[in-house]
Amino acid sequence: MGKGSGPQVPLATFLPTLAHVREVADPVSPHLEVTREWLRTPHEAVWFRSFRNPSLVGNLWPTRESVAACYGATAREFTEILLQAIEHPTPPAVVKTTAPWQENESKPRLTEWPVPHFYPEDAGSYLTAAIFSSQWKGKRNLSYHRLWIQGDDGGPMRLVPRHLDRMVQEARRSREELPVSIFIGAPIDVLLAAACSTDYAVDEMEIASALHQRRTGEPLRVVEMPDGSRVPFEAEIVLRGRITLADAEEGPFLDILGTYDTKRIQPVVRIESVHTVKSPVLHAIVPGSDEHFLLMGLPREPLMLRSVRSVVPGVRAVRLTEGGCGWLNGVVAIDKRREGDGKNAILAAFSGHASLKQVTIVDSDIDIFHDREVEWAVATRLQADRGLVVIPGATGSSLDPSASKDGITTKWGIDATLPLGIPREPFLKGHL
Ligand code: MN
Repeated sequence: MGKGSGPQVPLATFLPTLAHVREVADPVSPHLEVTREWLRTPHEAVWFRSFRNPSLVGNLWPTRESVAACYGATAREFTEILLQAIEHPTPPAVVKTTAPWQENESKPRLTEWPVPHFYPEDAGSYLTAAIFSSQWKGKRNLSYHRLWIQGDDGGPMRLVPRHLDRMVQEARRSREELPVSIFIGAPIDVLLAAACSTDYAVDEMEIASALHQRRTGEPLRVVEMPDGSRVPFEAEIVLRGRITLADAEEGPFLDILGTYDTKRIQPVVRIESVHTVKSPVLHAIVPGSDEHFLLMGLPREPLMLRSVRSVVPGVRAVRLTEGGCGWLNGVVAIDKRREGDGKNAILAAFSGHASLKQVTIVDSDIDIFHDREVEWAVATRLQADRGLVVIPGATGSSLDPSASKDGITTKWGIDATLPLGIPREPFLKGHL
């Protein structure tokens, strides 16, 4: 945003490439009203300025074009850029200088913040763009976790059984609390990397640094905390605390599919100190919004691309669709070279993203970034008696309400590619 034309308070860590922000100066309630306002313009960043210290912003990254543009790329090219960063993580630059967020320290009074209560049946007010940074026995991890602000110093988090959960389990075995640095508001490189699914040994901050390097030519600058966790130099808000030995009931909470995730017993987080820039902005990811789909789904697409490419060299583009909430449904475009390529692409797409439930394979003349084009390909090129693949009894997303209780689901693929060796003319769109 240009000086003078943009917001009066710069959104320091939220990238200058963010071209347009709708500012709401009138008071709004963080209880449901902010959600309504965000959902009214889902592809526009909306900043609530009536809240102070912090103010509140959502829909920051609402389109894949807005993310790709930061890297000088189109949506199609961006999958490859993300794949390169995942395959070639680079160390961040640990700096000793004082970060802007280290200049303002206070005791946690989180109930005074405009933490949104997003949907009517949610258990309470939640932080949704909180990235947990941790270090345990030499291994580091970044991951998003929703955090229910039950009191001034925290509440229960949602801890899915992945890397941070493993650290918590190990710490708890020796009756130790796990220190965490929770940061909110960071460069897009970090927001993407924190949603990447990697090996336990890989520090997601190194993926962020590779992306940052690609975007700016410099490694990502980070601050090392006393507990060994790392926080980006550019962050709006940092909460220092610990995942305690206590558990509490968490949820319900409306999640990515737009349905309510159920109550579970989950670990309780206690915040000890709050560190912010001057005039901090609280980033909220609206559950079930396009920004939610993108920040969760974009980092899965490179893994699907890599998996399909290993069996079908002619893979051209991969996309998780917004209709499938950036999580359950995908489309892949291939240059078909062997008759079975379409079927192999279906199987490989499933192994690249474990939560994928449905995938459609099309020829590379179809623009997979337009749902209507994909549906056109299915309408004009598919014969279901030879193009359908149904895989019962597979493990899918635990969020899918149609899956059985343990997440067992039937996956299915549509091979809408044309058979090789037939005249293609009847299948091509005429043009003016
Ligand atoms: Mn990890």
